[in-house]
Amino acid sequence: MKILTSTFNTKYNTAPFAQIKLQDYQLAFEENIAKARAEVNAITTNPQAPTFENTIETLDFSGEALDRLSSIFFNLNSAETSEEMQKIAQDVSPILTAFSNDITLNEALFKRVKTVYEQKDKLNLNPEQATLLDKKFKSFSRNGALLSEDKKTRLREIDTNLAKLKLTYGENVLAETHNYQLHITNETDLKGLPEGTVEAAADLAKSKNLDGWIFTLDYPSYIPFVTYADNRELRKEIAIAAGKKAFQNNEFDNQEITLNIVKLRFERAKLLGYKTHSDFVLEERMAQNPEKVKSFLNDLLLKAKPASEKEFAQLTAFATELDGINHLEKWDGAYYSEKLKQKLFNFDDEQLKPYFQLENVLNGAFKIAEKLFGIQFNEVYDIEKYHEDVQTFEVLDFEGQLVAIFYADFFPRKGKRNGAWMTSFKPQYIKVGVNERPHVSIVCNFTPPTASKPSLLTFNEVTTLFHEFGHALHGMLANTTYPSLSGTSVYWDFVELPSQVMENWCYEPEALALFAKHYETGEIIPQEFVDKIKESASFLEGIATLRQVSFGLLDMAFHSNNPNEVIDIKAFEKATFEGTSLYPDVAENCMSVSFSHIFAGGYSSGYYSYKWAEVLDADAFSYFQEKGIFNVEVATKFKENVLSKGGTELPMELYKRFRGQEPKPEALLKRAGLI
Ligand SMILES: [Zn+2]
Repeated sequence: MKILTSTFNTKYNTAPFAQIKLQDYQLAFEENIAKARAEVNAITTNPQAPTFENTIETLDFSGEALDRLSSIFFNLNSAETSEEMQKIAQDVSPILTAFSNDITLNEALFKRVKTVYEQKDKLNLNPEQATLLDKKFKSFSRNGALLSEDKKTRLREIDTNLAKLKLTYGENVLAETHNYQLHITNETDLKGLPEGTVEAAADLAKSKNLDGWIFTLDYPSYIPFVTYADNRELRKEIAIAAGKKAFQNNEFDNQEITLNIVKLRFERAKLLGYKTHSDFVLEERMAQNPEKVKSFLNDLLLKAKPASEKEFAQLTAFATELDGINHLEKWDGAYYSEKLKQKLFNFDDEQLKPYFQLENVLNGAFKIAEKLFGIQFNEVYDIEKYHEDVQTFEVLDFEGQLVAIFYADFFPRKGKRNGAWMTSFKPQYIKVGVNERPHVSIVCNFTPPTASKPSLLTFNEVTTLFHEFGHALHGMLANTTYPSLSGTSVYWDFVELPSQVMENWCYEPEALALFAKHYETGEIIPQEFVDKIKESASFLEGIATLRQVSFGLLDMAFHSNNPNEVIDIKAFEKATFEGTSLYPDVAENCMSVSFSHIFAGGYSSGYYSYKWAEVLDADAFSYFQEKGIFNVEVATKFKENVLSKGGTELPMELYKRFRGQEPKPEALLKRAGLI
């Protein structure tokens, strides 16, 4: 079995999809892990003294065959999977985790890394090398490699406990979500709800052998209910039920668990020498420290608050006019927002779709990339694919040099997971003087063509395509030496800049003229539609901003302070939300105990990054707007300082080199109509 190594007998060394058989993977993984292990062993048993080259650099280039195999396998497991493949994934995942743990816990390896790290000032490293050294060292130290044996033991205890607590936290939220149902037997209580929602509720009731309709706290049931149901009392009932998940002093209560998670995270950070959990997390973020994040959020709050209050007054006035309601409660927000939106922007996706034929939109994205970054996309038909729907492109620069291979996989099918994402089959890096070019892919689930119509995209799908295409550009234009610093391997509050910034072109008449043409008449999308798209995109942005900021501040309040001072979760939450709440508090509700993003998932001290990324992309795009959205000079600065640089330097430094200054929130506030 020689197929699944690192070089393939294919054009451009692309993944040999047509030659791979499912039954080959298991053995290929075993062989490639053994190979990678041998490569690491060669570093640790090297009789020569550790150097940057023989240790740090060699480590970064090790495991190449395994990485290629993993990317092929796991990309397909997302885009073209089967039960058989999922079974293999379950078998190989623990082996891969064990292998990566073996590296982090490899003391001989760490000793060599540490020796090099301690000499770093004398080594004359360039910025990329210095970053690589720092990253390698931290991958050990942040996992406790520098600790004494008893502290290491405690760290492992904490990690085990945290993993269990996070799991239980999530399970409790899930259990509480399923423990509630709103059973409706009177048809008039359904007034306002869309047909599809009612139908699903009837089906659910039927499946439980009940009459009438059942609504639950699952989002596809809950969100339409609070958005559309005219019956205010029932909206209140289901909203309060949602707000008190895991806050009912029953066996699924999360109050104690939440506090324990926060305390263990604090202890862990302390053990590793950090002031708080946020300090630990933010060390590897563009924002760098809690003070920066807090001042970022508070500044946004200060600037967005007047607009949010104005919007809230507008929404209240609308509710008064419509239903005589003078004080909005939490269960009124989504409902009146939707009604007001319908009143103000009476247009829908169906009117826009004819202007967004997939082929045109894709070509538009290509043309924009050509104008900005000097690259051309040529569809080719001699590269192996994993499914006939996949399109393949050679990406060339103006001199005809290969920049990347680009795969695009647009339509839903069995075996593809939901959503849209960018990934790669081969990273970019420079090895022994050869600049290996990347193989990048975007995978989406867009409206497929029918017998009579081509694929016509909703506007949301158009921005999604540009978003993923932006990530793809980050991958394709990469130009770094080391694979682990290449392309999208950047801090995660920086990774959405290239993707989100590309979305901005979808709102610009000059860009839309390139691709938004009616699929039958060829007419360019009318300006009136463009205006409505823009306006509706910033509808009630002030209220939404305040909400996001309040969640970010809550996250920081828990993780950037000493949690041993928190006694009562609800009181702590209420105090934190002071100054960011527009709606009255609901005494029987508590958000912190079902805030799975930060307590069961990986977003702790990271919630701010949603807004952070928006500030970045708006600020970056405002530079284009100043100089022209197709200005080559600005685009080149973006390419040279951001898109090609990956994670080779601190993102703030890269950004400043592109923009000439740190990002400011004004462009976002302006775009969102808040100032
Ligand atoms: Zn993204």
